[in-house]
Amino acid sequence: MAHVRFRSAVSPLRRGTTLARRGTPSVRRPLTCVDNLVETLRPVDPVHCLRPAVLSATAARFVSAFPGDVLYAVKCNPEPAVMRALYEGGIRHFDAASPGEVRLVRQMFSDAEIHYMHPVKSPDAIHQAYFDYGVRDFSLDSAEELEKLMEQTEQADDLGLFIRLALPKGSAVYDLSGKFGAAPAEAAKLLRAARAVSRRIGICFHVGSQSLDPAAYERALELAGTVIEAAGVEIDVMDVGGGFPVSYPGVTPPPLDDFMAAIARGFAHLGLPSRTRLWCEPGRALVAPGVSLVVQVIKRRGDELFINDGVYGSLSDAGVPAFRFPARMIRPEADGQASDDRGDVEEVGFSFYGPTCDSADHMVGPFMLPADIKAGDWIELGQLGAYGSCLRTAFNGFDNVRLVDVTDRPLLETPGYLEQEVQPEGDSDWSDAAAKSVGHIMERAA
Ligand SMILES: *Cc1c(COP(=O)(O)O)cnc(C)c1O
Repeated sequence: MAHVRFRSAVSPLRRGTTLARRGTPSVRRPLTCVDNLVETLRPVDPVHCLRPAVLSATAARFVSAFPGDVLYAVKCNPEPAVMRALYEGGIRHFDAASPGEVRLVRQMFSDAEIHYMHPVKSPDAIHQAYFDYGVRDFSLDSAEELEKLMEQTEQADDLGLFIRLALPKGSAVYDLSGKFGAAPAEAAKLLRAARAVSRRIGICFHVGSQSLDPAAYERALELAGTVIEAAGVEIDVMDVGGGFPVSYPGVTPPPLDDFMAAIARGFAHLGLPSRTRLWCEPGRALVAPGVSLVVQVIKRRGDELFINDGVYGSLSDAGVPAFRFPARMIRPEADGQASDDRGDVEEVGFSFYGPTCDSADHMVGPFMLPADIKAGDWIELGQLGAYGSCLRTAFNGFDNVRLVDVTDRPLLETPGYLEQEVQPEGDSDWSDAAAKSVGHIMERAA
């Protein structure tokens, strides 16, 4: 039986949480696959199925494909087991956006570089990050924030300052153009002001999350070029942010290398000095495929399924943003015909209701599942490593969740990620390779 960790809605970011460095967990966890897990555990609480080998391989692929430094955007999933797997895959830079995230990264990885890329920070957050955790890089989008940074770091002369550039509304699924960012003229002014007081400067932006168009990065780089020219100063770092997409049902993004090529092209086109570094801040793309969620069907009403997790739990994105997730039914042998031995049962679209009493706890989907699914069956939902578990609440008392490491492949793959490194022919090979890779990870951690 797999070793299972329990986690309530309380976040690993909570103050006072102690985490041993990189070392935890001290127990070697036996590995299993999702079907085995359901059969042996018959879980009545939602289960997060972590795929450490997938997380590590995805990180390794991204790090090798990107022509610069890859910063993991911690907000996307701060689960320590996830962060450890990314570290094993070669991630050494972290984009943190709160004192809690800064502290978590520093506790876990003494050699990691932490970059505080939230452009609006409280004075205390800046002070703590600089003096208690050694953070030197900060983003900003206003003169007021620059003043605050200088004051709270006691006029430090070793800062890296990154001007967050506002972008026109783009085509990303999650538009991020409204909240942060300086308009080009203001950004140019800030660049000049930052150049005068800091050790290094850069421009950063975010094209929007789940951005399906590689050209969005090229357009943003072009705009950054006009800002640099207007400012008349040299920059040290160009940070193209996050936004890299993953597959969801009915959505297959262009291959990863198309994004990398667009960024390399846009960057080269600016003709910056060769010492200028390129950074990116992926969140979703690194972690979405690495975690799935197993839920149980509590009740069926026509094509509506009442399940034991919902929009106040790990399925926030299935609510108002109406994300669809890849789904498959799991029905252990003893419950009648096992799910993998049923020939061709037709798949139809279902919507979900979550476990709380709120009628907003509704997920329209449609989630494609076998037509004969019924109360008591389990469902595995994929691509939930990003913006899933970390958005859980304890609303209505539904705050129990289990974490288990599994060896399965992701339910859905994104072009360009896992082909080269770790996708051997056939599922059993994959499991062997994943098991070896995870075993290796655990040995290194022990
Ligand atoms: C959320 C965020 C990211 C990560 O975005 P993804 O779309 O998940 O890649 C990166 N940088 C900043 C500043 C963010 O706020």
